[in-house]
Amino acid sequence: MSFTADTLLLFGATGDLAKRMLLPSLCALDADKLLPETLRIVGTARSPMSDAEYRNFARAALEKYLPAERRGGMADFLNRLHYQPNDVTHPEGFAKLAEQVGDSRHRLAIFLSTAPSLFEVTIEGLERAGLGGEGVRIGLEKPLGLDLASSREINDAVAKCFPETRIFRIDHYLGKETVQNLLALRFANVFFEPLWNATHIGHVQITVAETVGLEDRAEFYDHTGALRDMLQNHILQLLSLVAMEPPASYDPTAVRDEKVKVLRALRPVRDGESVTGQYRGGAIGGAIVPGYDDELKRDSGTETFVALKAHIDNWRWQGVPFYLRTGKRMHERVTEIVVQFRNVPHSIFGNARMKPNRLVIGIQPEENITLSLMAKVPGLDRDGIALRPVPLDIAMPDAFTGAHRRIAYERLLLDLIEGDQTLFVRRDEVEAQWAWIDGIRAQWKSEALEPKPYASGSWGPSAAIALAERDGVSWHE
Ligand code: NAP
Repeated sequence: MSFTADTLLLFGATGDLAKRMLLPSLCALDADKLLPETLRIVGTARSPMSDAEYRNFARAALEKYLPAERRGGMADFLNRLHYQPNDVTHPEGFAKLAEQVGDSRHRLAIFLSTAPSLFEVTIEGLERAGLGGEGVRIGLEKPLGLDLASSREINDAVAKCFPETRIFRIDHYLGKETVQNLLALRFANVFFEPLWNATHIGHVQITVAETVGLEDRAEFYDHTGALRDMLQNHILQLLSLVAMEPPASYDPTAVRDEKVKVLRALRPVRDGESVTGQYRGGAIGGAIVPGYDDELKRDSGTETFVALKAHIDNWRWQGVPFYLRTGKRMHERVTEIVVQFRNVPHSIFGNARMKPNRLVIGIQPEENITLSLMAKVPGLDRDGIALRPVPLDIAMPDAFTGAHRRIAYERLLLDLIEGDQTLFVRRDEVEAQWAWIDGIRAQWKSEALEPKPYASGSWGPSAAIALAERDGVSWHE
């Protein structure tokens, strides 16, 4: 059912994500007059607070996490906020939530920003309180499980009350402007698509590198590791957007049908096609940082780095490796996609050094697109023509001056409120992602693969460099 929500019910309203991302995103949307005029936001968590206390809590979060120039009309935004304490493990508390929601149960958006272990009891409580009907849609934060089996359990629990058309699974990378721009680049320009295949593309690289270590997620991270924390979701979503066939329209079913086909076509990773690592002490940006086991205060076999050589078994991508890597405590914070084209079939320029064209899509920290083209070096060419790659740069903030750089959650929260599922992950996608990742973990177990140490501030273990170099490929750094 298509509707714009009257109320947003936010579980986990006192948590870190609410403070850093959700409240700032909602306030920024309001400042730009993008929230429905009458939208109420009801926060809930266990902490006892009145509406006034929650508004103070939210004000402090906004002052800390939202730049002043995006906080216009903050007082009006704070007036939209209400708070209802509720422990989701106590079923009787949901009646009070239902009272708060009132008639907007017929036009309600719910966002679960709590640990997924609480999803099942929360959904049971919502259903019993009459907050699961046709006019209710639900957004779910990651992680959706730790493997295919646990992901199915969560999905089954949610599906008891909500049909797929009312479930909005978040992967916040899909809310990023450049990620959406990837679709515009591929499908709103005529010249990429004919070249976007194994005949013209040599390989693709996707890197998500962080400089941070464990922060305050030590226990969670040590149970999860880089493969499941980053690659299973964000990197595979990026890969599916790069590799998908053109959908018939920009519509949730058409786009997600094409993405899931890619995820299902991923070939199981074989022996020697993956490298894992764990950071040791080192220096990042001139600061000395401790190793993983020092931060964790015990030994651990969890990987903080993973590099894979992936293949997509379909006609378009046969023989094109996708090199994927992610890690913590890396040399710099960067998320980018590199599409490396093949060399021209024949050089007419004799011995001139040719370099194949390369498209680099920067997602973080800068949003930009760079296409490297070969050009003639100016001169009279007495010794033959000299060529050099030159970048054709599109820095998104320059190309669209006046547009804000938005928090990814702004887009996703607004889509949840308005009911557009295009940028949310469908159940079959999550499960295809997990099926492939479970295969990799089984492979690691059979290989008895141990994470290789790497110095903080580096680009990961040298074996990751060798993984690409064996094929004559260098990581883009
Ligand atoms: P958090 O800081 O630990 O917050 C958890 C929230 O859940 C708090 O509001 C807590 O409030 C509430 N809560 C805990 N137990 C509850 C219960 N029994 N009944 C009702 N409310 C309860 O976690 P977070 O970092 O905000 O993360 C929330 C979710 O988003 C997690 O699944 C996390 O993995 C995911 N996530 C977080 C980030 C991030 O940057 N933080 C990024 C990606 C995904 P009270 O203590 O007041 O009850």
